[in-house]
Amino acid sequence: MLIKKVYKFILDLIFPCSCLNCKKEGEWLCRDCLKAIKPYQNQSCAICGKRSVTNPCSLCQKETKIKKLIIRASYDQKIVADLVHIYKYNFAQEVGEILTKLILEQTKIKNLSGFTFVPVPLHKKRFSWREFNQATLIAQHLSNTLKLPLKTNLLIRTKNTKPQAQIKDVQKRRANIKGAFKANPKKNLPARVILIDDIGTTFGTLSECAQQLHKAGVKEIWGLVFAKG
Ligand SMILES: [Zn+2]
Ligand SMILES: [Zn+2]
Repeated sequence: MLIKKVYKFILDLIFPCSCLNCKKEGEWLCRDCLKAIKPYQNQSCAICGKRSVTNPCSLCQKETKIKKLIIRASYDQKIVADLVHIYKYNFAQEVGEILTKLILEQTKIKNLSGFTFVPVPLHKKRFSWREFNQATLIAQHLSNTLKLPLKTNLLIRTKNTKPQAQIKDVQKRRANIKGAFKANPKKNLPARVILIDDIGTTFGTLSECAQQLHKAGVKEIWGLVFAKG
């Protein structure tokens, strides 16, 4: 506990509360820089990379059980990478609010009635080290703002996997996350779910979660991430 406080103190020195981008004091990201984050625009499937009008493409929809992917920004913008990094490693829970604000700006996310938000769970070992689940925080903000239910106990993480970001090879990433989740047999599952995570690269984690929920009877599954890596 003390070690964590000292760590946070040191990180606050390295990353004081000033705009990540223009260094103006007071906020993690000032209004102007917030506006400068470009929306995610891609005419291809975020999972397989093939040209497609839908995201994911129809083939990946079938394979992953994710019907639609909502992505706010591309990770190759420096400011997006900085935000995600600070959010994950600086324990900066305030950043969660900013990420959610940015997600909500996207017009496509308005009509979601009937959906329940389900964040990708962390393994309990990782959770106790970090003290917060970055996906849950985003899901909480979204749920409060859009007045849609949030369920954090529908999925159970059964394996403490290596962080996907540390594995470069796509096949190895898939193998790493395979079988890491299961749907909680004690819970009634809603018909429509939006899975939430902070970042997706090959969307192996979201696909694993979606497949488990689909197997357990969820009819429609979407995925939402702040950034595509
Ligand atoms: Zn700024
Ligand atoms: Zn595809």
